[in-house]
Amino acid sequence: MVSAMPRERLYLFDTTLRDGAQTNGVDFTLHDKLAIAALLDDLGVDYIEGGYPGANPTDTELFAQNRDLRATFTAFGMTRRPGRSAANDPGLVALLDAHADAICFVAKTWDYHVRVALETTLEDNLASIRDSVRAAKAKGREVLLDCEHFFDGYKANPAYALACAKAAHQDGARWVVLCDTNGGTLPHEVEAIVRAVTAVVPGDHVGIHAHNDTEQAVANSLAAMRAGARHIQGTLNGLGERCGNANLVSLIGNLKLKPEYAESFEIGVTDDKLAHLTRASRSLDEILNRASNRHAPYVGDSAFATKAGIHASAILKDPATYEHVRPEMVGNRRKLLVSDQAGRSNVLAELERVGITVGRDDPRVARLLDVVKEREAVGYAYEAADASFELLARRMLGKVPQYFDVTRFDVNVEQRINAVGDRVTVSMAVVKVAVGGENLISAAEGIGPVNALDLALRKDLGKYQSYIKGLNLTDYRVRILNAGTEAVTRVLIESEDENGERWTTIGVSPNIIDASFQALMDSIVYKLVKSGAPA
Ligand SMILES: [Zn+2]
Repeated sequence: MVSAMPRERLYLFDTTLRDGAQTNGVDFTLHDKLAIAALLDDLGVDYIEGGYPGANPTDTELFAQNRDLRATFTAFGMTRRPGRSAANDPGLVALLDAHADAICFVAKTWDYHVRVALETTLEDNLASIRDSVRAAKAKGREVLLDCEHFFDGYKANPAYALACAKAAHQDGARWVVLCDTNGGTLPHEVEAIVRAVTAVVPGDHVGIHAHNDTEQAVANSLAAMRAGARHIQGTLNGLGERCGNANLVSLIGNLKLKPEYAESFEIGVTDDKLAHLTRASRSLDEILNRASNRHAPYVGDSAFATKAGIHASAILKDPATYEHVRPEMVGNRRKLLVSDQAGRSNVLAELERVGITVGRDDPRVARLLDVVKEREAVGYAYEAADASFELLARRMLGKVPQYFDVTRFDVNVEQRINAVGDRVTVSMAVVKVAVGGENLISAAEGIGPVNALDLALRKDLGKYQSYIKGLNLTDYRVRILNAGTEAVTRVLIESEDENGERWTTIGVSPNIIDASFQALMDSIVYKLVKSGAPA
């Protein structure tokens, strides 16, 4: 990615903590916000928009914190209200006093909104933009202006929309950011309109803020760049209200790895930090307590997964045959899925990846493939459960010790009226385990039968207890399948250990508790194998 010509600097502005916080079901705590800011800062994002100081207690507290960030920490708020002076607008005064490196104002630039929503004149709105930019400059802040509804505004009244952009630039705004607030603008329109703006405001002062309502927020951001914009706003994983904002993760992948961009532009994300991209994306999902999008470009679990045998054998000869970039560059990994469609190549490659060497013509490989096919026919899906596949393979090669035996378990679910008269459902599990010569009995209560069973299983494994203390279940998914004539339940469990390593295990049975038990057992045994626990 080194080129002879000096590359132009392109600035990334993250608004996960402000616009991303508008997402349905997302409610960041102060601790979440600080953790996300640290992730973004580590990646090398230039600006982090923290939120709206004065608007809610979390944001007010966030801005009061001592932060040690390399990025320009930015406060967001409105330009001065109509009919007031800057000094006489309490909202603006609070914003100017916030402990921030930069201030991003939002202003209306669509004449219709100025008249109907602000109920003021077009001239007063321009004066409000100028006054607010000047007041923040006077406070020593870097200033950005988010031009709300800019593209719709431009279509309705281009002269007025341009006048707003020009006013902010003339009065010293570092960036004039064109917002596709409703997210309905198409890439060719964005490119044409941004070109018109860069004729009156230099492109190295123009930014883009795209929403994903036509699933083109990333494309729209790149279109704006082609037209001269040098500042891109977005969020981690495309978080944001409705269909989300431009996904910074995908943008970073494109800007760093597509020669058309990488050779002409430089961003604050170094090649080393690019390898943190997958981790950053998944960390956000962890903070949000939700499963990651397996199909996310660049960073998804399936982004570099190949299923069909014929593709897999080509990939083994040369990965470039079916991959647009190398997965390691973004911290992801190649995955050759083992499934009933898989050939010997997938199985061999997967075995090699986990450090098991077997000869190509070893009869055990053919037998393993047969077992995978038989089990998939009754509902197993090993492509989604890498750890269960690895255990199956190791067992067939005689490499998994019998660490312990669950000799019996009992799970019950009881609904009753509690002491304060509420109807409650409680679950309890009792597990009997033989470890070495010992028989251990553990009981636990849980929020559901599977949770109770999990807690009881992991409560006391005797001499193995220290190996599993960092084990955590991070996701639990259930599907009812119709395999043959009977319905069966498939359970997938995702686990994580103290090193942040993740794996997925599977269980299939007509009984949901039994399917969950299989997946839980695989997860524990996998952790013991991985930790090198003695037999
Ligand atoms: Zn927005």
